[in-house]
Amino acid sequence: MAHGLLVARKAPTLYSGMDSAPENSHVSAADDILLEHDVQRLGRELHGRIKGKSPGIFQASYWKGLLMDGAMRDPALKTDLFRLVDALPALATSEEIARHAREYLLADQRSLPMGLGLALRTTQNRIAASISAFVIKRHVRGMAEMFIIGRDARDARASLQRLWNQGFGFTVDLLGEASVSEAESEVYVRRYDDLIDFLPAETARWKANEILDRGPSSGSHPRANISLKLSAMDHLLDPADVEGGVHRLLGRVRPLLRKARDLGAFIHFDLEQWSLHEIAFRVFETLAAEPEFASWPHLGIVMQAYLKSADDDLDRLLALAAKRGAPITVRLVKGAYWDYEFVQSGLIGVPCPVLLHKPETDAHYERLTRRLLENRDKIHAAFGTHNLRSITVALTWAEKLGVAPGDFELQMLYGMAEAEREMLRSLGHRVRLYTPVGDLLTGMAYLVRRLLENTANSSFVRLRHYEGADIGELLAKPEIPALSSGETAKSYDGLLSAPFENCPLSDFTNAQVRAAFAQAVAEAEKQMPWHIPVVINGRIWPDGEALHHVSPNLNARLAARTNSATVEDVEHAVRDARTGWPAWRDLPLKNRAKLINNLGARLEADRVRLAAMEVHEQGKPWREADADIAEAVDFCRYYARQALTELGPRTQGHLPGEANTLTYEGRGICAVIAPWNFPLAILCGMTAAALVAGNAVMLKPAEQATAVAHAFYQHAIAAGIPADMLAFLPGPGEIVGDALVRHRDVVQIAFTGSRDVGLSILKSAAEIAPGQTMIKRVVCEMGGKNAIIVDDDADLDEAITGVIRSAFGYAGQKCSACSRVIVVGGGYAPFLARLKAAAASLVPSSAATPDCLLPPVIDEASFTRLRDLLREPVADAQRVFCGAVKSDGWFVPPAIFEVSDPRHPLMQRELFGPILAIFAARDFSHAIEVANTSDYALTGAVYSRSPRHLEQAQKEFRVGNLYLNRPCTGALVNRQPFGGFKMSGAGTKAGGPGYLLNFAEMRVCTENTMRRGFTPEIL
Ligand SMILES: Cc1cc2nc3c(=O)[nH]c(=O)nc-3n(C[C@H](O)[C@H](O)[C@H](O)COP(=O)(O)OP(=O)(O)OC[C@H]3O[C@@H](n4cnc5c(N)ncnc54)[C@H](O)[C@@H]3O)c2cc1C
Repeated sequence: MAHGLLVARKAPTLYSGMDSAPENSHVSAADDILLEHDVQRLGRELHGRIKGKSPGIFQASYWKGLLMDGAMRDPALKTDLFRLVDALPALATSEEIARHAREYLLADQRSLPMGLGLALRTTQNRIAASISAFVIKRHVRGMAEMFIIGRDARDARASLQRLWNQGFGFTVDLLGEASVSEAESEVYVRRYDDLIDFLPAETARWKANEILDRGPSSGSHPRANISLKLSAMDHLLDPADVEGGVHRLLGRVRPLLRKARDLGAFIHFDLEQWSLHEIAFRVFETLAAEPEFASWPHLGIVMQAYLKSADDDLDRLLALAAKRGAPITVRLVKGAYWDYEFVQSGLIGVPCPVLLHKPETDAHYERLTRRLLENRDKIHAAFGTHNLRSITVALTWAEKLGVAPGDFELQMLYGMAEAEREMLRSLGHRVRLYTPVGDLLTGMAYLVRRLLENTANSSFVRLRHYEGADIGELLAKPEIPALSSGETAKSYDGLLSAPFENCPLSDFTNAQVRAAFAQAVAEAEKQMPWHIPVVINGRIWPDGEALHHVSPNLNARLAARTNSATVEDVEHAVRDARTGWPAWRDLPLKNRAKLINNLGARLEADRVRLAAMEVHEQGKPWREADADIAEAVDFCRYYARQALTELGPRTQGHLPGEANTLTYEGRGICAVIAPWNFPLAILCGMTAAALVAGNAVMLKPAEQATAVAHAFYQHAIAAGIPADMLAFLPGPGEIVGDALVRHRDVVQIAFTGSRDVGLSILKSAAEIAPGQTMIKRVVCEMGGKNAIIVDDDADLDEAITGVIRSAFGYAGQKCSACSRVIVVGGGYAPFLARLKAAAASLVPSSAATPDCLLPPVIDEASFTRLRDLLREPVADAQRVFCGAVKSDGWFVPPAIFEVSDPRHPLMQRELFGPILAIFAARDFSHAIEVANTSDYALTGAVYSRSPRHLEQAQKEFRVGNLYLNRPCTGALVNRQPFGGFKMSGAGTKAGGPGYLLNFAEMRVCTENTMRRGFTPEIL
């Protein structure tokens, strides 16, 4: 007998034992069993109706079958296939397509499905290449067309009407998820505007459909239904600046809503990545509650069940609906960005926002399903899923709670689950299809996401159509694993015995974190100017010749007044350190390691205050300042652990008769001469390494970074570093730095800074002072003239964002910053056009505001040098872009110069500012040659989708830190040991293995263990 729910409009009662469904009922365990029983019964019924029918994507035409089958069987092939699909739109010629297909697919020892390997090998031949390229492109386009309904709404009109005539509603989504400039965001908003103009008028002419046009109690449903993606409407969205993002988006979305309301369209807010969740929610909440929209029922938003916050999200939406008085539609989905969220949160070390086990998401979905339907007076529920179990649970709950079909709807993606959608429609449900429109380029990213979703191991579609899972498995109640997502959250216990883990960056998606940061920034501002003393052996010397440093954000504001150390202070500090040093050297290594580990913990506990100081003292934007503190913590934790493995005693050789013991010990007194651009991280890294290895440290911070350096000093002393082993000696480099470098008892120098100073230190350190008994060793990190190569097949969205971040982040004042971009072949003109548009968004602003994209440069000297460069025309270079000017701080506008000579000064001289040279290379080899034409070899990056070019770069692009398809800044301790060679430094890698050895002497003691003919080893 057919199940009652199968004929939707009759809505018979499922639960014969219960007369009617109680409102907002609480289900007992017995009810739960009953419900599960009905889910199983209905699920089997529904399954019976679609048995044997596969979605189009699984129906095997040669290429489709090959792609899906290969992807399911071999994860490596899946990666390569999908990467090839992703690259296709950027490939201009048949040769390029054929080359990429070979590079991706003809991997060693890979057995390709029949015929494909042969076809690819023959693509070496020009005519065969053209034919293969044509075939590949045609088939991939064909696949994209399965999921994308048209290039734009007008192009899609006939297909949309066909769907309507078949009895399906739709919601149109405009593809185009990444915009990198204001202009691109505006284009996207205009496309929506155009869509709202077009769709209601167009659909009004279509024939009436009782189920699609009205719900029994939910009233009329506009035919024109549009899904909005907010990310593409504003390219500057940033979780640290929720207010700014919301403000800008309100201005853009409000007119769209007005037009939609007036013309009769439904607007649905899609949700994207977690980092934008709060912004999207706030925009929705604000608009939905505004008087002009508060009674408008045709507004909806997505809820992502995979989010740990989903229950709270629903609470918010219920409160909103209650407040405004008209219902809102909620489309419940599981969430499309699971892999991204999982990977991204792991990379930056913040709590993972999504549930970690698929059954948890499924169970969450079911719970939320019930809550949505229970609140039908406030919420119109829409269930966006292709999973038969999830659909069945929704239908069962709707029946139980008395929500009539038509007062909720089922939604599916166009191109997926065709059999399910047809079956549900035929049963009288309102089924709406999510129909994206867009061109092939933006469509490819969407296609790849759908392919990934269909082939994921846990995907319902894969289980049903590929794995042939039986009905019991497909309908099984999701079991929450013993170790659920809540319990897996790791906490760093801080003990030295715990393995090293990078200190997480602050999670600015968290409102409390944002508020604490804002408060600390405001408090730090009130504290300025900081008064910074000299401290020698614990004694504070506050007075003396003063150094003044104004805040780069506002040059009328003094940030720090510092007592400058003198040559006599240096003498005094070195003398005290010399006396105390042997005891420090001989302290057990573990004791020193513990102190350094403690120092890391102290810095972490004080991270917000320290970061806020950097915001004012160095003009570091929030995120950059936060990352600097996290890196300092990392250095402490890392070197403390690394010392135990690298500097501990060990035996060498194992022949009987001798015992060889290798030990390390500190060298003596080390001068740490630190830069201002990573005012805590680099200073802390060099100091921690020197101390843990058993040296005393004379700490000479940069003149522009004494306040944060002094805060560090205080933490170090509080963590237990003996006062005579760490002297704090701020002052001018030419006086204090020079005196330290030349001092006969300073045996070690750790320097990070400019090339000129670095080279002069190397020279001075080579001179033997009278009475000097040790050879000075110099750990010297200097600058870079770092290049990013953008290949002609690069993903331009990624490349532009990466170049902008690398070149203009912290106003280009990082030694790892990109200052040359080398663009290969035909990609040059489109790249430059988009780069200029993206750079135009970099409006200079104080680092104290959370929306700061381009902070000031550090001081007047830097400002004047850069301003002068921008004032005059530069010979043999064309300035193709120069940004906005701001005059109350040391603000330098971002600038881009076109050059055609790799040896041009703009391609060779380190400028340390927001100035970028761009160069057009003939081909990829030429680009590498140009990139290597530099005295420096620090960092570099390549954006390319050619495996062969990426491999070539790895071999031939000679820099200390090479990054593929990501920015060239942002190295993390342990993961990317950092440092360069040539004129960038002496090859030492901070935050990596071997670094500590630079600060220690290796000693070997060999004992003859043979006594009168016997040795203990063979007793
Ligand atoms: C009409 C419609 C509109 C949509 N709009 C959006 C939108 O605006 N925003 C959005 O994010 N998504 C959206 N989606 C996509 C949706 O979120 C799902 O990705 C997709 O529908 C697959 O889910 P499923 O229930 O069909 O399949 P299933 O195979 O049952 O579920 C797959 C889903 O399970 C989750 N999952 C996978 N692995 C794990 C794991 N290890 N731990 C926890 N959870 C896991 C993921 O969410 C994955 O997508 C929409 C879907 C539809 C049908």
